[in-house]
Amino acid sequence: MPDTSEFDVVIIGGGIAGASLAYFLTERGVTKVALLERESQHGYHSTGRSAASLVEFDPIPAVQRLKAMGGEFLRNPPAGFADNPLLIPTLVMILYRRPNLREFQRAAAGLRRDRVAFESLSCAESKARVPALLLDEPERALMLTSCGRIDVHELLTSYLRHARRRGVLVRTGSEARAIVVENGRCHAVVTDAGTLRARCVVNAAGAWAGP
Ligand SMILES: Cc1cc2nc3c(=O)[nH]c(=O)nc-3n(C[C@H](O)[C@H](O)[C@H](O)COP(=O)(O)OP(=O)(O)OC[C@H]3O[C@@H](n4cnc5c(N)ncnc54)[C@H](O)[C@@H]3O)c2cc1C
Repeated sequence: MPDTSEFDVVIIGGGIAGASLAYFLTERGVTKVALLERESQHGYHSTGRSAASLVEFDPIPAVQRLKAMGGEFLRNPPAGFADNPLLIPTLVMILYRRPNLREFQRAAAGLRRDRVAFESLSCAESKARVPALLLDEPERALMLTSCGRIDVHELLTSYLRHARRRGVLVRTGSEARAIVVENGRCHAVVTDAGTLRARCVVNAAGAWAGP
């Protein structure tokens, strides 16, 4: 039976990007959403291979702000969102040699601006914490104190569980074969099981986003 359902948003790709978008759309009352994943399970590609560290630092200010906002969500998810903590706290140290002191100052200013918790360490202080650094000569170090290791499985499955409960159509084994474009706008996504019409199509296909 061909699927001719109409959606507000069809999301292609069920990794962390697609799953989180589905969840946050429903948070804003957008529930006529379909999430298509071509593999038999979610998170099969990059999401399932992540080293899972949250490092709330980035030299690009907009990306750093997004990381800080993401970090806040991981530390303080909404009540009932997940069964287990999403973040296992660890310290993260970023080292700067003498020629990079300007980057150190820029980074510290950005962390302050985005209210990311950190300590600024001298060479002696960083060596005292990590004696292996005796072989290296960091001039200064930034120690991020609210970062950690993300429980990616818990995060991904929580996004999907809530999205499903709120009415999102979540499909695995469903590959987007083509996107129908009319007058410069995407109107539908073609799958083997039929065509899903949509007001918006989001390409969250990860490494396959180009093709
Ligand atoms: C080795 C490694 C280590 C990493 N370490 C970290 C880290 O420590 N910290 C960190 O924050 N990030 C890390 N990352 C990055 C992070 O994992 C990725 O940024 C993130 O998982 C990307 O998610 P995604 O949803 O965009 O992509 P993906 O997880 O790849 O999801 C895209 C999905 O789209 C599906 N898809 C593709 N084409 C179609 C189609 N036509 N129809 C339907 N579905 C389709 C794919 O099957 C896939 O499941 C790491 C990545 C790797 C590879």
